[in-house]
Amino acid sequence: MLSIDITLTDKPKEKPADETKLGFGHIFTDHMFIMNYDTGLGWHDARIVPFGDLSLSPAAMCLHYGQEIFEGLKAYRTKDGSVQLFRPDENFKRMNVSNERMVIPPVNEEDCLQALKELVKLEEDWVPHTEGASLYIRPFIISTDPYVGVRPADHYLFIIILSPSGAYYSTGLNPVKIYVEKKYVRAVRGGTGFAKTAANYAISLKGQQEAHEQDYEQVLWLDGVEQKYVEEVGSMNIFFVIDGEVVTPQLTGSVLPGITRKSAIEICKKRGYKVSERRISIEEVAKAYDEGHLDEVFGTGTAAVISPVGHLKWGDKIMTINDNKIGPISQMLYDTLTGIQWGTIEDEFGWIVKI
Ligand SMILES: *Cc1c(COP(=O)(O)O)cnc(C)c1O
Repeated sequence: MLSIDITLTDKPKEKPADETKLGFGHIFTDHMFIMNYDTGLGWHDARIVPFGDLSLSPAAMCLHYGQEIFEGLKAYRTKDGSVQLFRPDENFKRMNVSNERMVIPPVNEEDCLQALKELVKLEEDWVPHTEGASLYIRPFIISTDPYVGVRPADHYLFIIILSPSGAYYSTGLNPVKIYVEKKYVRAVRGGTGFAKTAANYAISLKGQQEAHEQDYEQVLWLDGVEQKYVEEVGSMNIFFVIDGEVVTPQLTGSVLPGITRKSAIEICKKRGYKVSERRISIEEVAKAYDEGHLDEVFGTGTAAVISPVGHLKWGDKIMTINDNKIGPISQMLYDTLTGIQWGTIEDEFGWIVKI
């Protein structure tokens, strides 16, 4: 059991008055969780303190070489007013996978979950009451040694911050337009694609920007070796329904192992769909489209849960999926996942952790 020291703020902020205008990631709650790591001491000094700026040396290693990892999950308010989390144990398990790859010392997963629960409990009033809105949770670790040489650090901070966020789909489940990236790559064989680390996002900004300029919302990344096989979208994993079969790229090391992805696979299997985790080339997707077998395309991730894809642009070819409407499997997954998360349907999988 982690012993957590608590210092309460003497300047509590006003809660957002209009929960329909929260947006994503702009507002932060009154408190945050912090603990330190020092070589020889391990993780120590677990504490909840008022949310505020950090004091770091300008030479702090994370600022120069990006030794950083993060996680993302949400707390949901149910109809009876209670607050719950969705598979939070999976986030801390994945955090340690990312840590291992980035040579960051492992965390105690139970301690982290306890810290998260205590922080959310303290900030319970910040969990939005509006349908579809939630409290976004961002745990992360940075290296802090004041040293501009390249080596794994000896000093780290583990921090959890909380951000009330609005419904992702304020105007209903709208299909997104996706640009298949042919020039840039996100991850390569042997790289850091499977780790949730800042570098993977820094590398993706340029492609994302060029896609935006062409009025596409997200980029679909192809493999970094041949640029032939489909990998994932921005911050979502990708699924195709081809002739009734649910297909998603297998986890080869360059794809982020999404918890929503894993949950979608488990739901589809339980509902009797054929699910394949395998390599799928963009040519195969285009061929299925031409032959009229590409039934649905959708992304999965914590932020949007399920994001139907309406348009897919690959070079000069523009594919319009399912008439730019949400398909039946996408809708079933969206209803099941959000129903479990907000507690409106029974949690038949045992995924919910109550605060
Ligand atoms: C976080 C993330 C996802 C989605 O993971 P979830 O656990 O489902 O939220 C997918 N791709 C990338 C690159 C990510 O960082």
